[in-house]
Amino acid sequence: MYRKISILFFIIVSQFLYSNKDIWGSIGHKVIGEIASQNLSSNATNQIEKILDGQSLALVSTWADEMRSNPEFRKYDAWHYVNMPLNKEYPEIQKNNKGDIIQAINKCIVVLKNKKSSNELKSFHLKYLVHLVGDIHQPLHVGRFEDRGGNDIKINFLGKASNLHRVWDSQMIEYYKLDYKSLADELIINKKIKVSINPIDWSYESHQKVKKIYSEIIGIDNINPDYIAINSPFIKSQLHKAGLTLAKVLNDVFK
Ligand SMILES: [Zn+2]
Repeated sequence: MYRKISILFFIIVSQFLYSNKDIWGSIGHKVIGEIASQNLSSNATNQIEKILDGQSLALVSTWADEMRSNPEFRKYDAWHYVNMPLNKEYPEIQKNNKGDIIQAINKCIVVLKNKKSSNELKSFHLKYLVHLVGDIHQPLHVGRFEDRGGNDIKINFLGKASNLHRVWDSQMIEYYKLDYKSLADELIINKKIKVSINPIDWSYESHQKVKKIYSEIIGIDNINPDYIAINSPFIKSQLHKAGLTLAKVLNDVFK
């Protein structure tokens, strides 16, 4: 009886978490998946279609977050971020032995490049790769340990209680009130973005930005439309950059 109740409880809780996760952050990840799909080589497109059994990159881009409510996936929690002090860059920090977003991205690439990897293993790591290239371009996934990348910084968003991480993960993107395809189409028009293939470069750029975010938020207790407008060009260019970066990585993996 107790077991039945606890299973039922788990199902209810995971449904609740699932529905929340489905809202938080999903548009940004889908935009990135869509932009990447539109910039893949035909070879990469074909191999990805086989691995994902026809599912699109946009569709699988949020899977890694959805699975976080499953206790079996707790061990992958550290894959979604890396915490760094503001005065140190990735090569200088003490590494988390549970892993971090850069170690995870590199692992995904190794598994995908290995011809001996099973399709199941490739599918798992491809879904993570698509998600994590998105996460690392959101500056607060490279934030401070003390406030868990802004999760512990309570702040209002347009007058309603929120936190700094959520504001940057999803709320400022949802503010555009666009579906992911329309937002991807809007971003793709601007083609002039150069991207690096090295995850440490991506972490460096996010880290530079997160320092600014932390210093500019001091004394602010509400995110208003002005704050969104000021940060909008960065957010959009970052979504675009993440999409092109993901395509570049996948084109290299499946060349
Ligand atoms: Zn994530």
